[in-house]
This record gives sequence, structure tokens and C-alpha cells, in this order.
Amino acid sequence: MEFALIDGVRAKAQPGLKGHCPDCGAGMVAKCGPRVIHHWAHAGRKNCDPWWENETEWHREWKAYFPDECREVSHTAPDGEIHRSDIKTPTGIYIEIQHSAMTDEERLSREAFYGNLVWVVDAKPFARSFEFCHFLPDPGASFAQDLVWYPARRGSPMDFGAFWRRSENPDADSQPGSLVLIHSYQRLKDEVLKNWRGHQQYFWSRPRKTWLDATCPVYLDFGDEWLFRLEKYGSSLLPCIYRIAKKKFLHDVMTETAATDIASRFYPVPTSV
Ligand SMILES: [Zn+2]
Repeated sequence: MEFALIDGVRAKAQPGLKGHCPDCGAGMVAKCGPRVIHHWAHAGRKNCDPWWENETEWHREWKAYFPDECREVSHTAPDGEIHRSDIKTPTGIYIEIQHSAMTDEERLSREAFYGNLVWVVDAKPFARSFEFCHFLPDPGASFAQDLVWYPARRGSPMDFGAFWRRSENPDADSQPGSLVLIHSYQRLKDEVLKNWRGHQQYFWSRPRKTWLDATCPVYLDFGDEWLFRLEKYGSSLLPCIYRIAKKKFLHDVMTETAATDIASRFYPVPTSV
């Protein structure tokens, strides 16, 4: 953990310090070896929060985007259960910064516990099995209503993007499996780019399925200035990602009150964020 209490005050770990856990009151010792991230550990036993994950550099980078008072904030459920969230913003959004794989069971309990939650997932460990495919037009654009996209699949003829038009195949929606005229993304590329708002197809071999089933928004962090939210495209079931600038996310999470409203409204973001 990044913070322990020393004489009742939240303090960061420094060599030789001793403190107490803000949640269970147990003694804590500062771990400040040359090869570990400086942190606090419960003396002689496991962390009192069973959901707590050992922190990586990546965790600390994320926490450092937020003021100290937003980090490691305890939340008590009505039944008395206590957990420590990585981040709680002043507007009441919880952010869980997740590096390790997670079971469905744990994901569901955390989503139920925090409610107003977003996941930020370290995507570097699976970046090699995640392929960014073609762009998709703004699902709200009028010309996009005519297009039905095929899921991108590696090694298939649909690899580079393929779609059919409702206007050319008026009965195809009501008769699944009927023959349609298939077009290639390449022929529509310019129009798609003109109407692009951040949607893109992807192909994820051996996906960490729990993130596809999540009920709270999931943002993948591949380590650059972007985040990719896992989504379904428009009203279809087509999986897609939605790209937003990390800056925009960090701004919205501090100003929006609902986790689902992050990156849903667009206006100039102050550059000081
Ligand atoms: Zn504790």
C-alpha cells in the first residue's frame, strides 16, 4: 500500500518507518528495498483487503495522476464489508487499476460493491494477442445506419474490413443468412475517416473474457497517451473499441459524477489537466 497511518496521519513509506493500517489498525512496516516500489505491508500477515493486488510501477503511475486524498480510499458496504479502492474521485467515481487477470466472480463482486466504478486494465501483458483493425464510422452518423459490418477476424477474407448495405439488401435484416453483396472497407475508407469519432474494430485472440462481460466500463491501457474502452458498436453486437485521450479520461473522471458519462460529452479540455 502507498499509505499507512503514523500518529493518525497518512504517510508514505520511508526506510525504517512503522505505522498502522488505516482500515484494520494492524501494524505496518515500510518496505523500501532497492528492487521494490516503496510501499507499506501489514506486519506478519496478509493484507486485510482480500482484493488488494501487489502494486506495480504501472499502478503507481496511475495513482500519481490523482491527488493523495483520492488514493486508497476505503469504502464500507451497508453490511459492514470494507475494501480499499485504488482511486475515488471527489465526484464519487471509483477507479480500479488492474494489472493481474481476474476471475468473473471477483469482478462481479467488485462491480456490485463499488457500483459507480470504472476499470483501468493494464493491456501490456496481452498486447501481442490484441490486434487493432479498421476504423468504424460514428455509429450516430446517418450514412452509418446503412452499413452492417462483419466482425474482424484474423486470417479470414474479412480481415481488412467488410460490410453490406441495408439499402442494397432490404430483406437481409429480417432473413438472417440470406445472400448479400459484400463490400470492402477500402472502398469506404475516406468517408469512414471523415465520420470517425474513435470507434475501431479489434481482434483479441485468447481474450481475457471477464473484461468483455464487465458491467462497468473497461478501459485498456497499452502504455501510451490513449485509452481504449471496450464497447459494442452502436446498437449492434459487434465488439469494438472506443479510443479516448488519457487526458480526457483524467479530466472527465474528476468532473463527471457517473462512471458511464466519462468521455460521453465533448468540449475543450483545459490544457492544465
Ligand atoms: Zn489492514
